[in-house]
Amino acid sequence: MKKVYTGKDIQDMIQQGTCLDTIAAGSVLTPSAKDEIREHKKGNTGYGVNPPTVASPAAPATSETQRLPDLPAGVPTVPPTPIVPSLEYKWTPGADASTPEDIQRFFYSPEIQTLKEQMAHIAHKMWNRNMVDGNGGNITVRVGDNLVLCTPTMRSKGELKPDEIALVDLDGNQKAGWRKRTSEANTHLAIMKVQPKAKSVIHGHPPYSTAFAVAGIEPPTCLCSEAEVFTGAIRLVDYHTPGSKEICDAVSKVAKDNPAILLANHGVMTWGTDAEDSYWKMENMETACQTIWVASQLNGGKMKTIPSDKMQEIFKIRQSIGMDDPREGMKECELCDNDDFRPGTVCEITPSPIQQETPLNLDAEAIVKALTDEIVAKMS
Ligand SMILES: [Zn+2]
Repeated sequence: MKKVYTGKDIQDMIQQGTCLDTIAAGSVLTPSAKDEIREHKKGNTGYGVNPPTVASPAAPATSETQRLPDLPAGVPTVPPTPIVPSLEYKWTPGADASTPEDIQRFFYSPEIQTLKEQMAHIAHKMWNRNMVDGNGGNITVRVGDNLVLCTPTMRSKGELKPDEIALVDLDGNQKAGWRKRTSEANTHLAIMKVQPKAKSVIHGHPPYSTAFAVAGIEPPTCLCSEAEVFTGAIRLVDYHTPGSKEICDAVSKVAKDNPAILLANHGVMTWGTDAEDSYWKMENMETACQTIWVASQLNGGKMKTIPSDKMQEIFKIRQSIGMDDPREGMKECELCDNDDFRPGTVCEITPSPIQQETPLNLDAEAIVKALTDEIVAKMS
């Protein structure tokens, strides 16, 4: 039987000063063993690219811990409790800066400077991912009861600098910053007024999502699990002039319960706990729209929805990360209604265990389906 050498075997041989030429021809070397031999030949004695600082080839190791290097300075000796990262800005309610001097101090404080850098970074990511064009797109981050950081007007998001960010109140009055704030800030502020969880809002024109918005079609639901968890159903808001009171009213009504929305004949808007969270939702929405578009070209346009009982599990995940879903409690076709995407199609129900125990409901569904099929056939 051929002898098998692992990376550990090779390390031991090197440590004990055993010549590697003693490995018999025809022996089996695992990938890690090959790596160790390669590194040894390059002069890195048996420890990959990080050779030990104290090494005596003849000194046998007495335990595995003796091989480990010292901890770098500042690293705790015991693993810390893992935490979920959060960039959400938390302020003290009722303590907004109010005098012009205090507002300036607040606006140039280290915490706010960090947020401005984060906003500029997100703006660059939007531009690099083709989510904005020209001087389009804007980002807001709420930093007080009545204070919101806001990107300026007439600036490419690919070029935006942190010191160009402005500060406005919830009515859109500029409070600080040398660049004039975007005129579309009012729509962001309208969402923040009705939804306290919306600490950041982002607007852009990503092509696939915007294509759905231009076609006036809400993307079909229950298809992409990632988007279902983070954006929920993507809803469409009717067209109104950008920056007008009408668009503010229409958007705030729909966006209150839906963090990812389409603006008809315009673009998209997402909100989240911070600028990165809002940006991720925009990525999730755009990827979902692109995927759905590609999938619609396959298999005659037929797509398989996530079963309704599995969608309930997605709602539980959403709840665990602090996001309610207005669709909770909906069932079957009501939940995964894709008729808007493919007019005339009939929702196919995936039977859940509860339905299987109540054949009466299935009979009713069968009758509805038969009637719908007949109506659709006559119409076409
Ligand atoms: Zn726009």
